[in-house]
Amino acid sequence: MRKKIIAGNWKMNKKYGDAKELMMRINTFMQTHSSNCDVIIAPPFPYLQKAEEIFANKKVKISAQNMSDQLSGAYTGEVSAEMLQSIGVDCVILGHSERRQYHAENDETLFEKIKIALEHNLTPIYCCGELLEDREAGKEFEVNKTQIETALFGLTEEQISKVIIAYEPVWAIGTGKTATPEQAQEIHNYIRGIIAEKFSQEIADSISILYGGSMKPDNARELISQPDIDGGLIGGASLNAEDFTKLIAICN
Ligand code: PEP
Repeated sequence: MRKKIIAGNWKMNKKYGDAKELMMRINTFMQTHSSNCDVIIAPPFPYLQKAEEIFANKKVKISAQNMSDQLSGAYTGEVSAEMLQSIGVDCVILGHSERRQYHAENDETLFEKIKIALEHNLTPIYCCGELLEDREAGKEFEVNKTQIETALFGLTEEQISKVIIAYEPVWAIGTGKTATPEQAQEIHNYIRGIIAEKFSQEIADSISILYGGSMKPDNARELISQPDIDGGLIGGASLNAEDFTKLIAICN
């Protein structure tokens, strides 16, 4: 039985004081409610260490939003896997569509980043998803297949078992347009199927595939109840304590 996961991607939002308050409110919720799902938050880099302190009880896992494809050295402005590991970070989001769009990240580089993350005991949350034009051209299966194949098929069985996949149709991110539960389920089921074909049914059955794209308390229940949707990677709604904790409660 796969455990549900609610992960919040804060992106480049919130000043320190507001970020700290949001973390404290999530922490209070986690201390006062029993939770059957795994909760992850991905604050901006400067707040990761504070997040480690606030969630020292480990009721919430901490994720970075990105990391370098280099191990160390003269790469101004970059953050390495080793640095994240050394402050106790648990996960790292890799391949978010905003990184692909604005920073030209591609599946080949992401494959390297995923291997580096795993070598440093960081759980990669690997994002895939088609653009609106891909869907309109009927290419949603093909696009997701290529992103999964190129970034994940070179991993060993042991490595792939540690990866979390997030299917995030780009047309649904930050737009208020959510994929219907049927549309999302169809792609999740397809991704699980290609993982089963390449690796094994056992691995496919155990891997978590999250949905991301305008998930909110009022549409989450139906999405999360689909058989192949194991939770959500949430942008906008993760910035508000009430919405985010409602999403955690829905997952329980
Ligand atoms: C995201 O950025 O991963 C995301 C899903 O954003 P939103 O929930 O705002 O669509």
